[in-house]
Amino acid sequence: MNEIILLKLGEVILKGLNRSRFESTLVKNVKRAVWPYGNPIVSDKQSTIFVEVDGPYADFDGAYEACKKVFGIVSLCRAVKCPLDFEEVKKTAGDYLSRQLSRAKTFKVEAKRADKNYYLTSPQIMELLGEYLLDRFPNLSVDVKSPEVTVYAEVREGYVFIHGNPERGAGGLPAGTGGHGLLMLSGGIDSPVAGYVMAKRGLKISAIHFESPPYTSDRAKEKVVTLAKKLCVYAGQIDLFVVPFTEIQEQIKDNCPEEYFTVIMRRYMLKIACGLAERINAGAIITGESLGQVASQTLGAIRCTDGVSSLPVFRPFIGTDKQEIINLARKIDTFDTSSLPFEDCCTVFTPRHPKTNPTEESVKKAEEKLDEEKLLDGILDRTERITLYAPGRKDRNIAEE
Ligand code: ATP
Ligand code: MG
Repeated sequence: MNEIILLKLGEVILKGLNRSRFESTLVKNVKRAVWPYGNPIVSDKQSTIFVEVDGPYADFDGAYEACKKVFGIVSLCRAVKCPLDFEEVKKTAGDYLSRQLSRAKTFKVEAKRADKNYYLTSPQIMELLGEYLLDRFPNLSVDVKSPEVTVYAEVREGYVFIHGNPERGAGGLPAGTGGHGLLMLSGGIDSPVAGYVMAKRGLKISAIHFESPPYTSDRAKEKVVTLAKKLCVYAGQIDLFVVPFTEIQEQIKDNCPEEYFTVIMRRYMLKIACGLAERINAGAIITGESLGQVASQTLGAIRCTDGVSSLPVFRPFIGTDKQEIINLARKIDTFDTSSLPFEDCCTVFTPRHPKTNPTEESVKKAEEKLDEEKLLDGILDRTERITLYAPGRKDRNIAEE
């Protein structure tokens, strides 16, 4: 059977002047998501995106699963593309949906005609197809209010598309339509998920990671690369920037009071992140912080870190419990990787008794021995850039133009 995927766009997308930009980004994102599963044939009409996959290695099931993860899509379904002859339409509908229809007790038929020249009207299609299915599946009766299965017949340009109940899509806004955010990505549980939720609100995501070799290992870095790749499934291509942070941490350790290590380190991270954001044209920093989760995430500590930021800092989990973040991490398949026990640069120099509610004044005093200009000089030029794509067939990734 000639199967096709139908993607329905969100209401928000349909409003206002941004519509065509939203739609063209969404089509691009769909193509990129489907690409590892075959050559995508994608078209866009009347708030529906039609997806077919072609080529010798075409994997329709894989393509469908990939479409479920594209932001900006409210619902989706697999459909069969049937020639216009109505006898054929009836038989195809019965064959294609036989598994669902033979198990259900109630159903109804919905018909839509984009092609008004079709020789049957919508009410006629509903009546004739309904009669045929009632006859073929004696277990069924009609329930127009809340049927278990709705059989859709959509007449469009030379074909009738037949499908059953649609599934919920990923929702949100197409990644890349809402600006560009720089995600501070540790190897922990929270930050990859913070990237996911901000991509869902339409941000293009780049990531910055601070490493402190030899205190942190290559395996810790590999873990971050793996996390960023898993994020690419939802966010599209991600540039990951890895900053050499050892010297700064050592200088903090040698020159500042121990109880201030963490907050001073976080101020340096944020300064560097803002510098990089400016270079790559990102308009916000994203972190996985949650109020009160650890000593560096108290209101006082957050005020001290924000004091050095030249950009808005998005903390989507500021009011979220850890368990809810973990649930999301499992859903997007980052939890197991995040749980691998490799050291992070934050944990290497953790003070025994961190200052829980520092003031900006006291932090400034604590860091006054550091030569900030010297420490930050040229650090972005020593930063490594790694461009990442969603995992899939290695030869089937496409770069953004
Ligand atoms: P996560 O699970 O996201 O690592 P966490 O609970 O371990 O968070 P912290 O270690 O205090 O919390 O880090 C808070 C936030 O700071 C992280 O969510 C992340 O955005 C950022 N961050 C921490 N360490 C790094 C790092 N090595 N590189 C980049 N960003 C980092
Ligand atoms: Mg962490």
